Amino acid sequence: MYPRDLSSHTAYEAGRGIEEVARELGLDPDSLVKLASNENPLGPSPAAVEAIREHADRVHTYPKASHADLTAELAARWDLDPNQVWLANGGDGALDYLARTAIDPGDRVLVPEPGFAYYGMSARFHHGEVTTYPVSKAEGFEQRARKILADYDGQRIVYLTSPHNPSGSEIPVAEVETLAERTEEDTLIVVDEAYGEFAESPSAVSLVETRDDVAVLRTFSKAYGLAGLRLGYALVPEAWADAYARVNTPFAASEIACRAGLAALSDTEHVERSVALVQAGRDRICERLDAPTWESAGNFVLAEVGDASDVAKRLRERGVIVRDCTSFGLPECIRITCGTEEETRLAITECNEVLRGAT
Ligand SMILES: *Cc1c(COP(=O)(O)O)cnc(C)c1O
Repeated sequence: MYPRDLSSHTAYEAGRGIEEVARELGLDPDSLVKLASNENPLGPSPAAVEAIREHADRVHTYPKASHADLTAELAARWDLDPNQVWLANGGDGALDYLARTAIDPGDRVLVPEPGFAYYGMSARFHHGEVTTYPVSKAEGFEQRARKILADYDGQRIVYLTSPHNPSGSEIPVAEVETLAERTEEDTLIVVDEAYGEFAESPSAVSLVETRDDVAVLRTFSKAYGLAGLRLGYALVPEAWADAYARVNTPFAASEIACRAGLAALSDTEHVERSVALVQAGRDRICERLDAPTWESAGNFVLAEVGDASDVAKRLRERGVIVRDCTSFGLPECIRITCGTEEETRLAITECNEVLRGAT
């Protein structure tokens, strides 16, 4: 017996983990600075950690109340109906629910290139076909409706990332609206705001309230520091509200995830500190790095360094792990996550030395 033909499916390549790199280099994991996966350098909210401990002895029951409570809290925050909030196992899980809801076999989707690999993976799992539109480096990764429409011809889902990974560029809400207006009635626009907390521009959620063809994706993995917990959600049009019960993996967000999520939401101080740290960090990287960078609204900065795979390797040898963007189709770029003040400073110093050719 064989699996189905998965030859068009590409395997997800995560940023390298600390343990993996430490083992390879024979270094102590604690001595490494990991700025490759856009994680929160301040860690999780202490309130979330406390909630995880507090609820540990209740994981023998299915999460019902906690799921409803978190859904209600998010609905109130976004001013939507609770059934427009689709909790999932990370933002990635929410992408799967959107694909399950929208895609019939053979439907096409339109994804950004370079871009987040999981859009295409998720569409393919659901027997969709993937087409791409460029978010062009030559044009400063600018995202505009007009450019995306040049590659649009009736795809069922158009994925937008704002702030965009890996460049940090944004698409203004007015442009999302133009795109939604100009695409066909049965085209869903998914606005992935995984890095939304770090941006100063408003969320596209206002369009979820007024339209039936825009969904927004958010996650607890980045600003909330809960990447290991796997908690994210989609905010969907009212007309879709009853689809969730038909497509979701039962209890997709665990008891612990829901409790920690609720606690993290109430800990506004932690999110504010995280965002402030990122804003200072990305300014610092753009100012001090001896390489061209792009203005970023995310918790990372893309930098053009020449041979990215070589620079990333040399940085690794110096104990700093960054994301080589070759797998994004940008073999001359690395993506540096904003760390603590000290980590960011060290990353800049080490990177500048590597770029100078120092050994
Ligand atoms: C991190 C990320 C996500 C979601 O990640 P989860 O950990 O699954 O919540 C979604 N989109 C982009 C562009 C990301 O970088």
